[in-house]
Amino acid sequence: MFLQSIDILDVDLCVQLPDKFVARTRASADLKEIMPYLNGMFRTSVYNHGDGSIKFTNDRVEYTIINDQVNIAKFANRTELHELLDWLRDLINDTYESRAEMTPLYARRKPVPVFFIYSLLPGTNCQMCGEKTCMAFAARLNKLEADIDACPPLSGQEYDASRRKLEGAFA
Ligand code: SF4
Repeated sequence: MFLQSIDILDVDLCVQLPDKFVARTRASADLKEIMPYLNGMFRTSVYNHGDGSIKFTNDRVEYTIINDQVNIAKFANRTELHELLDWLRDLINDTYESRAEMTPLYARRKPVPVFFIYSLLPGTNCQMCGEKTCMAFAARLNKLEADIDACPPLSGQEYDASRRKLEGAFA
């Protein structure tokens, strides 16, 4: 097995979200080799080939990996942290096993600009997406913390063209 374990070093309160936590952990292997494959998988990723680091978000939890250091942010409690570490270890091992059939991505991804996203949203501030304004939803889409489907009005026929443009931007 490529990665045997990811061990917790310490857990602290999250500075940005007081009801969430951050953790520093250490992997039993250097993860640099696997990073270009993770970069190809996560559209949220920010990969730096030079210094061997990658950041990505999955289900609102943030991961930062530098060589064998793995920092995880915005999780709810220790139980969730253990589940996330199991998920990450399995993902890395599965990726390592399948890497011959995968295409690594070495380039940095560019985020879709907030104002471009906003210009394609209905602009009614109806709050059906759970955000107070369309601009707030655009900001969440920009950070890849939300999905286009979370805006029900966008499924209306009159927004077909906007929806297709948005889907193209996030493809
Ligand atoms: S559901 Fe769509 S239209 Fe309504 S506030 Fe959210 S982004 Fe704007």
